[in-house]
Amino acid sequence: MMTDIKTITIAKASELLESGILTSVELCSLYLKRIEEIEEKVKAFVHIDKNKILKQAEVSDVRRKNGTTLSSFDGIPVAVKDLIAVKGEQCTCGSKILRGMTSPYDATVVSKLREKGAVLFGRNNMDEFAMGSTCENSSYYPTKNPWDLERVPGGSSGGSAAAVASSEVLASLGSDTGGSVRQPAAFCGVVGLKPTYGTVSRFGLVAYASSLDQIGPITKDVYDSALLYDLITGHDPKDSTSLSSPELSYANVVKNVSGNLKGLKVGIPKEYFGEGLSEVVRNDATEAIALLKDLGADIVDISLPYSKYAISSYYIIATAEASANLARFDGIRYGFRSSESSNLMDLYLNSRREGFGTEVKRRILLGTFVLSSGYYDAYYLKAQKIRTLIKEDFNKAFAVCDVILSPASPYPPFKVGEITDPLQMYLADIFTISINLAGICAISVPSSIISSMNVPLGVQFIGPARGEDVILKTAKVFEDHRAVKNFVPNL
Ligand code: GLN
Repeated sequence: MMTDIKTITIAKASELLESGILTSVELCSLYLKRIEEIEEKVKAFVHIDKNKILKQAEVSDVRRKNGTTLSSFDGIPVAVKDLIAVKGEQCTCGSKILRGMTSPYDATVVSKLREKGAVLFGRNNMDEFAMGSTCENSSYYPTKNPWDLERVPGGSSGGSAAAVASSEVLASLGSDTGGSVRQPAAFCGVVGLKPTYGTVSRFGLVAYASSLDQIGPITKDVYDSALLYDLITGHDPKDSTSLSSPELSYANVVKNVSGNLKGLKVGIPKEYFGEGLSEVVRNDATEAIALLKDLGADIVDISLPYSKYAISSYYIIATAEASANLARFDGIRYGFRSSESSNLMDLYLNSRREGFGTEVKRRILLGTFVLSSGYYDAYYLKAQKIRTLIKEDFNKAFAVCDVILSPASPYPPFKVGEITDPLQMYLADIFTISINLAGICAISVPSSIISSMNVPLGVQFIGPARGEDVILKTAKVFEDHRAVKNFVPNL
């Protein structure tokens, strides 16, 4: 039997392994071959170790033969974004400043993947320190959108999304601080889940903005998203912001959905459909609303008035936290060290000047400024107050609806190099950022392929804190009826 890796999912691959039709070595070899064929064009990875991958796959096959298979993930290849620690491997966050640094331990999500027998399948490219929306800020090379190699794959988890979309791997773990899982998923036509803050351990995730960061799965479909979320979620004593483990299996929730959305109240925020939305995106979202109605959902008009301040407050809070988190990279203990320095202060300054890219430096400066005495109250404190108001907006909305629908991005994937103004770039996350500020959950699902451009678009379902069951269910029914799931890039 020929396995079509372009359409295969985790669930399907797991069945094939279970029934003995395929071994993990065969499965991983198919992906390695695909990488050999197209990675030169896509550039979704910064590191792949073929031997290490095949070794893990062999061990998994032995377990299966001996009847000691660890889980349905045993032998399944999963990649991770280059800011998640894997013991003994480089973890560079797409930055020059961390080149050569080897992680001394596994991130909790990586330990969980190992415990379940998954094959760790390399590291995906990203915007440096997760700051960006296109993958153009990577210090290695920009990743390309597999649907159109002249376009960006989104960011900052662009490598993860492009790798899954181009069938170089079955799934990848990204991180989402302001949209970095959902926006690239939408740009590449795959599914991206930003879980509720605290439901996935951040231990071993290099911090960008600690109060906003969350690891999330990027997968081919919604069921796979639930499977991978089940695997990575759960309480972790090593993360002080970790919540209690869920009592349900999200994969079961998704498996048992009925074919309609009868009784589901879907909120449509009027502020998300104003100016600045491209026509194709507006039409797509309008069609999505009509479909949900057809499926029996009640459409409710809601208002999220403070969302207009989301971008400004995010770029104060995120940069403030980043300026503190990135202070530890100084060229002393690990990573890049400038060879130009004659004294200690110069060594710090030169290592950071040469090691960090332009966008990262811009944000460190901005973050240091908003925290500086005299400006703290005017900027940082005010942004925190706005954050509370944004949270309250969502609380009010979820009193009258179960789930909120919005576009995932205000425009379709744009050309590499097309947006150079940082402020214009920051607008790319206009629909995703408030969700992180509120600490709630959202999923981005492919909604259509724009035929004139042959690139995908995605919609976003937003749920309350710990409302992953509602958004996953809604996304699954939507996916089943939207039928874009089997469209793959022609690459
Ligand atoms: N694009 C946003 C930023 O540049 C979000 C990034 C993210 O979620 N990591 O900060």
